[in-house]
Amino acid sequence: MKVTIVGCSGSFPGPDSPASCYLLEKDGFRMLLDLGSGSLGALQRHIGLYEVDAICLTHLHADHCLDICGYHVARTYGPAAPYPAVPVYAPAAAPARLSAAYGMPDEPGLETAFDFVPLEPGSFEIGPFTLTAGLVNHPVEAYGFRVAAGGKAVTYSGDTGECDELVRLAAGADLLLCEASFVEQPGLPADLHLTGRQAAEHAAKADVGRLVLTHLVPWNDQATVLDDASRGGYDGPFELARSGAVYDLA
Ligand SMILES: [Zn+2]
Ligand SMILES: [Zn+2]
Repeated sequence: MKVTIVGCSGSFPGPDSPASCYLLEKDGFRMLLDLGSGSLGALQRHIGLYEVDAICLTHLHADHCLDICGYHVARTYGPAAPYPAVPVYAPAAAPARLSAAYGMPDEPGLETAFDFVPLEPGSFEIGPFTLTAGLVNHPVEAYGFRVAAGGKAVTYSGDTGECDELVRLAAGADLLLCEASFVEQPGLPADLHLTGRQAAEHAAKADVGRLVLTHLVPWNDQATVLDDASRGGYDGPFELARSGAVYDLA
């Protein structure tokens, strides 16, 4: 399994990365985890615009899903349109929410380009991948994902505060893409996001092979995020996410 970080900027695009998007490839099958603001552009550095086989959305905050609207344009009006509908695994409100964001009525909505499949906690097959979705700790319906294939596993936190379910999803994973939106300071809101230290604590509890700190908010000093992570008790390799970074879990 090959994991490419397309976008890792938290909450909005930064100068060096779009918002959340991760490309997972196995046996020629290409799946996206999130399609946040700006990510459709950077995605085309890695694969063709029409080479996406499935999309999974952790939650419906704009920085995780909004480029579905632009992608609808590409698949509906592109040179060889209509293109086959792409399955989009997402919270049940996705079709109505994203149609509204696009500015179209509910019926017919984005279903001309996408087959929306409502997410619920549990495991299911998508192409060569087994995806396990679990509810994480965020103010809206939000999932973390564990994706396994060929004896390897990657876990993506989505957006979450401290969360036992994230530890379960990440247990023994080869790679944990864990959000680190906050830097350590007094008075941080609970049940929203993690600091680097908290991300590392989750990585330690789950005993993952590698931790990549992601959902990095542009106004933070990222060296501080990395320094925070060094105090989380995780003794494996860890680093900051970077748009364009590739992890080959073969
Ligand atoms: Zn976010
Ligand atoms: Zn969010």
